[in-house]
Amino acid sequence: MFTIDAHLDLSMNALEWNRDLRKPLSETNRRENGMVDKPDRGKATVCIPELRKGEVGLVVATQIARYVSEGNPLPGWHSPEQAWAQTQGQLAWYKAMEDAGEMVQINDLESLEKHLHLWLFELPWSYKPIGYILSLEGADSIVNLSYLEKAYENGLRALGPAHYGPGRYANGTDATGGLGPNGKELLKEMERLNIILDATHLCDDSFWEALANYNGPVWASHNNCRALVNHNRQFSDDQLKALIERGAVIGGALDAWMMVPNWERGKSNPREMDCNLEKMIDHMDHICQLAGNANHIGIGSDLDGAFGREQCPYDLETIADFQKIPNLLTKRGYSPTDLKKIMHGNWLGFLKNAWEK
Ligand SMILES: [Zn+2]
Repeated sequence: MFTIDAHLDLSMNALEWNRDLRKPLSETNRRENGMVDKPDRGKATVCIPELRKGEVGLVVATQIARYVSEGNPLPGWHSPEQAWAQTQGQLAWYKAMEDAGEMVQINDLESLEKHLHLWLFELPWSYKPIGYILSLEGADSIVNLSYLEKAYENGLRALGPAHYGPGRYANGTDATGGLGPNGKELLKEMERLNIILDATHLCDDSFWEALANYNGPVWASHNNCRALVNHNRQFSDDQLKALIERGAVIGGALDAWMMVPNWERGKSNPREMDCNLEKMIDHMDHICQLAGNANHIGIGSDLDGAFGREQCPYDLETIADFQKIPNLLTKRGYSPTDLKKIMHGNWLGFLKNAWEK
């Protein structure tokens, strides 16, 4: 079934992990044999051939670069200009993938319709480019608001103002505090440009301020439920209800520590923790129970977000295993119509609404 993944860090993998995503996973993982610089070496689950195999024909793909002031222990650039340059390198990689016929940027209704037609009605799957909607995870690299317009011109259509820690425009996971004047100005400019607000990673203070200060379309590209795994990175039921009220779609994430409680990074393993795809369905189902329908969930896997098989469901070997999800949903009583909504329909409906305006 045609599938949308609303959160992948493809260009980060290409440039910081040095992965040629056109290659089969076996080759990439073999080439990382013996490397110890990152915990997910040799355990990649995402590449372009596997996206095709799994019918993941459309993804929301990130640019990501953090700014850190002195004393901030997180990894990051020492000036917003350096962070901007990093995101421009990432954009250059997406463009090169377009030139190579591997990917195609989707940035309006026309390109979306054309791409859907290609995936649903034309050509054998093996030759279709992966559509990508450009998003920015953390706004630190937006040097000043004039850069947001440049980013929009480059195709940027969704933005999460914060990532981990304190940000220049908003505060993210594990941080506290609201938006401040810069964050509010950013939201105003996003609204003018009709850039989707990605509520993912906003800390509680910034989350509530962002919803109050932004009138455009809101989604949460990759977020699970605090009620099931208690951490500030996850949304509380009140937050989920507020998102549902705004018409948001919330993408289920496949990072093990967000799926099962008590995960210890670098120690726990998916089988011992009983972390499988069913656990994602638990989070999705929780949101559906709050909403009273299946209109607000989708997939936002984050499967290449600095982790691999050591920290994802044990019954997922590659992203192509998304095709196991419809069966699991059916077992939970979801109808064929619901399956389509969850695998792609809800994201598509959201995009059509957002871009029609
Ligand atoms: Zn993230």
